Amino acid sequence: MATPSFVKSERLQKLPPYLFAEIDRKKKAAIAAGRDVINLGVGDPDRPTPAPIIRSLQHHVENPAFHQYALDQGAPELRESIAAFCKARYGIELDPASEILPLIGSKEGIAHLPLAVLNPQEISLVPDPCYPVYRSSSMFAGADVYTMPLERSHGFRPDLDAIPADVLRLARLMFLNYPNNPTGGTADLPYFERVVNLARAHDFVVAQDAAYNEMYFDSPVPSILQVPGAKDVAIEFHSLSKTFNMTGWRVGFAIGGAPLIAALGQVKANTDSGIFTAIQFAAKTALDEYATLTPPIRALYKERRDAFVGALKKLGWDVPTPEATFYVWIPCPAGYTSTELCGRLLDEANVVTTPGLGFGRTADGYIRAALTVETPRLLEAVDRIGKLSL
Ligand SMILES: *Cc1c(COP(=O)(O)O)cnc(C)c1O
Repeated sequence: MATPSFVKSERLQKLPPYLFAEIDRKKKAAIAAGRDVINLGVGDPDRPTPAPIIRSLQHHVENPAFHQYALDQGAPELRESIAAFCKARYGIELDPASEILPLIGSKEGIAHLPLAVLNPQEISLVPDPCYPVYRSSSMFAGADVYTMPLERSHGFRPDLDAIPADVLRLARLMFLNYPNNPTGGTADLPYFERVVNLARAHDFVVAQDAAYNEMYFDSPVPSILQVPGAKDVAIEFHSLSKTFNMTGWRVGFAIGGAPLIAALGQVKANTDSGIFTAIQFAAKTALDEYATLTPPIRALYKERRDAFVGALKKLGWDVPTPEATFYVWIPCPAGYTSTELCGRLLDEANVVTTPGLGFGRTADGYIRAALTVETPRLLEAVDRIGKLSL
């Protein structure tokens, strides 16, 4: 009898290939060899979670009532705080019972949404470059993916007029992500208004990933739900991860119209059993103290951005200054692909960056640097890059 051999599902086999085994191997080898590596490769805050949030968790973890299964739809106290936060920050009114859903990190909600809104053979509109989950979760739902390129000439926003009519006819979901990872681009309210109008006209859902909404520098960025009537078509994903240095805690939330929130909740009710309640109460503390906790975090990244982008510009690099996020999207010098440039920066300068190609085929002319090390190290990285002849 032949030995049974495991074969991965077609669903997994269809996912785009992982392209960075070689760079990952080099990075690990460089660190293991004791080389002085500056890692700008990971979008994960380097500073610890603010003390009031940690103390809140310590307090609530002692409550035996929280040691049991949490409510699927989230603690009412957290949903009330989310509603108050959204009202104060964006001026939007949300019903805590039906228009807010806490998530086990926003990635969890983003990954589950396509199962709630897409059928096989329908189309999901996905930006390129993008956070890879939009594409994979759309594919898991059996949908076809239509790629919307993000070009610098269009402010790193999809050109809505360039989406063909036959694509719009089959489209049931559009992913957007502003402020944008990896490009650092932002969207304003008039752009969101155009998106909402298009979604209404063609009957698709807009999923706006707002993971970086609170990481802006000069002026606050909008929520898509500020567009009148947006709740009919839009769901927005918020995260505490980057804003409050809480990536490991796994907590975020979705806001939107009640039918969309209920549909996502139905997928989740069949998948997970809620967020540890003590973490929900710590998240409540974070949102309640938003006004005092976030300004120092924003100021820190602004200082790093100004130092890093300023130094690169002094070297003659034509780098867009991001208005939000902790990413700098760096165009490759002529003649380099993103993987080639990342390879040289790692081999010859011990600086780790991420090749644009990892976020989509249209991004091979860029690399991404994350501002997740202290300013002197950022300046050291630019100094080392300046010594290479590229
Ligand atoms: C980090 C990130 C997320 C994930 O956030 P979690 O809330 O930690 O799951 C979602 N979207 C984008 C674009 C991100 O960069």
